[in-house]
Amino acid sequence: MSNNSEGMLDKKSFFVSTILDWETVNYRQFPWRNLKDNPFGVLVAEILLIQTFAEKVAPVYSLLMQLYPTAYDLASAQVNAVEDVIRPLGLTYRASQLVSMSNVLIDKYSGKVPDDYDELIELRGVGSYVACSTLCFGFSRRVPIIDANVERVIGRFFDLQWPIRDARTRREMQKLVGQLLPLKRFQEYNYGLIDFAALVCRHRRPNCGNCYLLRNCSSTRWLA
Ligand code: SF4
Repeated sequence: MSNNSEGMLDKKSFFVSTILDWETVNYRQFPWRNLKDNPFGVLVAEILLIQTFAEKVAPVYSLLMQLYPTAYDLASAQVNAVEDVIRPLGLTYRASQLVSMSNVLIDKYSGKVPDDYDELIELRGVGSYVACSTLCFGFSRRVPIIDANVERVIGRFFDLQWPIRDARTRREMQKLVGQLLPLKRFQEYNYGLIDFAALVCRHRRPNCGNCYLLRNCSSTRWLA
């Protein structure tokens, strides 16, 4: 193995172990995290979380789940009643998405969430990120999760182009994100990436001065 490959291997191991160490101290508890046997709760949360801050979603999600804890409850809800609950998040069109998605869950899957990527992304309002998050956090499946925040952290640390502007870099990013996913503690690691992107390697003003990854990070320009 060349010195370059060994260096890259070390850098990857350092990244994964550092994110896991950091997460043990900085894990953010939200009502949709570490739900036991409740993929429906995870799926609904992931849909609400699209382009929204988790802190804002938390009270809305708790109320929604209190009123409509299962696909059967949500499928029979009035869309405008669901809109009233999620109104603090803006984006009230998600109410009709949630109701119609719940109806499909009942019609096709006896009210359960399918644990299959292709079936998940067929559901209204569910894209790749939501499908992967649901598989990982709702079904404990070892699946990498990629969104713009994860791409930012990995792009900066490994010096990959970010934001991604071409198909070659996108493939490179997807491959790297998959390689980094640990065999064990993959849920913790995926939560860790989400939390780290939100609290440390932020879009604007990343906190490089207090970053556990700093000594091996390729993007020291952020320190300027
Ligand atoms: S050193 Fe800065 S740019 Fe690098 S991972 Fe940490 S916060 Fe992000």
